[in-house]
Amino acid sequence: MDRNIRLPYAFHDIHEECGIFGVFGHPEAANLTYLGLYALQHRGQEGAGICSSDGASLHIEKSIGLVADIFSEKRLKRLPGSIAIGHNRYSTAGGGGLKNVQPLMANYALGSIAIAHNGNLVNAEQLKEELETEGAIFQSTSDSEVFLHLIARSKNEDPYERIIEAVRTAAGAFSLLFLGESELIAVRDPLGVRPLSIGMVDGAYVVASETCAFDLIGAEYIRDVEPGEMVIINHNGIRSVPVLQSLRKAFCIFEFIYFARPDSYIFNHTCVNTMRKEFGRQLARESMVDADIVIPVPDSGVPAAIGFAEESGIPFDFGLIRNHYVGRTFIEPKQTIRHFGVKIKLNPVRDLLNGKRVVVVDDSIVRGTTSKKIVKMIREIGGAKEVHMRISSPPTVGPCFYGIDTPTRQELIASSHRTEEIKKYITADSLAYLSIEGLKNIVPDSSNYCTACFDNNYPIMFPKEKLEQMELVFA
Ligand code: AMP
Repeated sequence: MDRNIRLPYAFHDIHEECGIFGVFGHPEAANLTYLGLYALQHRGQEGAGICSSDGASLHIEKSIGLVADIFSEKRLKRLPGSIAIGHNRYSTAGGGGLKNVQPLMANYALGSIAIAHNGNLVNAEQLKEELETEGAIFQSTSDSEVFLHLIARSKNEDPYERIIEAVRTAAGAFSLLFLGESELIAVRDPLGVRPLSIGMVDGAYVVASETCAFDLIGAEYIRDVEPGEMVIINHNGIRSVPVLQSLRKAFCIFEFIYFARPDSYIFNHTCVNTMRKEFGRQLARESMVDADIVIPVPDSGVPAAIGFAEESGIPFDFGLIRNHYVGRTFIEPKQTIRHFGVKIKLNPVRDLLNGKRVVVVDDSIVRGTTSKKIVKMIREIGGAKEVHMRISSPPTVGPCFYGIDTPTRQELIASSHRTEEIKKYITADSLAYLSIEGLKNIVPDSSNYCTACFDNNYPIMFPKEKLEQMELVFA
């Protein structure tokens, strides 16, 4: 459903569900970063920041809020130089406010450095404890600060080696941008969990979580930062250093299902919209139903609903209208307000639905509260005769520890309920999910994906205490 007003789910951990953008060698580096972050707003709405370098020192501006509200012309002018990195942050309820908004910046023995991180580390707590024992003082509660401490405390005289040491010590998902006084460095974890692409505009290099950021600034896509690769961009050009052994890939399949923007090309330049439509087509092949109309839950259900309609031959229409102006006032992690929230955001078009057999396509069911509310309103306000829920992903059975904000396992309805039970809970006439085989058959090289949220196959292990803390119980 609506991407820009996603509700924070969990309280158990601080997630780094984010968008990052960097530029090297452009006179308007901060302005380009602003635009890049603007295009990546869907990846995080809690806060945003930009750090620029004028060649001698770093300048930083960041705040809680949306990119367009944070950065005025005046504020962007305070970010001089031709190199910059930026970050959009989305955190859970306990996410720590301004102190966790990135980029994070530090001065250390070899100069200044700033970091923007998308992903989640699985050993951050352990590393943090070790660093604190050695005297480190953390300014934030975000995983990402660990990198800065590891870099600052290293004895190595080569700044690149310090970064390499740090990324080798960290385990988990990380697409990273580092800004030094005279360079931009990008690193991607060996599994490539989160996307990261390199582009070029006006002879300047840009790096972004998603290519939709390139389109806005007229940049041309060059290639992805490879899993395990460090890319150094400075006045000598662009240099690739393989720093982490990448034995297998684990691209986050949920980026295709929900998280990335449909107009982006991620994970070796695969079109998100095309994937979503194919998921919808496959869903129709797997779970056809006699119906009069196919409607999406906007916005994230739209491409899959179009695919479903094309494959099934059932007419498509926008039977649910989204209010695009719902503000953050309704982002409250309380069940009562969540229920209210769906009504605030979506309203059925009675003229389209009255007396009809309706197929509703959404990308996922997490707790089930959204679907329940939607089915009810389609019946009660829309006047639908039958409501058939179709989900363009398999049942979400496992929480994500690598950067997507999901609730604990107990709160994931599909982790403890069968489809038939969920159908009853959401009061639909029928409910069907896309099969995991169907999903894997669609994405290119399916063995390259992390599908832990659908099959509990976690590609990166984490410490036992962390599992317990996250209320994760393995069968
Ligand atoms: P729920 O009511 O918990 O079942 O939420 C399901 C809705 O949340 C679906 O419409 C999804 O589009 C949306 N959704 C899926 N994953 C996330 C996420 N990580 N953050 C926010 N919303 C999500």
